[in-house]
Amino acid sequence: MSDCIFCKIVAGEIPSKQVRADDDVVAFHDLSPQAPVHVLVVPRKHISSLDEASDEDRALLGRILLFIRDLARELEIAPGYRIVNNCGASAGQSVFHIHFHLLGGRAMGWPPG
Ligand code: 5GP
Ligand code: ZN
Repeated sequence: MSDCIFCKIVAGEIPSKQVRADDDVVAFHDLSPQAPVHVLVVPRKHISSLDEASDEDRALLGRILLFIRDLARELEIAPGYRIVNNCGASAGQSVFHIHFHLLGGRAMGWPPG
């Protein structure tokens, strides 16, 4: 997707503070952190949102969660952290390349805003 910020970050065309990457998934620090640790985890594949994911993405989505498990340990925020996926504009999604916020390093309130 030529117009997608996260595709450009994945391709290295826009700089980011990368934390960890593998063949399918990339993690980088959020530009506007909402917690001491705030990392975005994205697939290299462009999928606009969870609502646009297909059954073919089942394994990829599973890999992302286990990638986050390992990343949280690496960043020393395990075992207590929050994963957020905003799906759709009304839920607060502003970048339409599926991503999971990994937040940690402070206590989290509930319900979210
Ligand atoms: P959303 O609101 O779609 O769930 O989350 C998008 C996130 O991407 C926001 O937390 C925002 O701070 C972050 N973001 C937007 N543009 C950039 C960018 O160019 N680089 C990085 N590292 N984060 C970005
Ligand atoms: Zn994209």
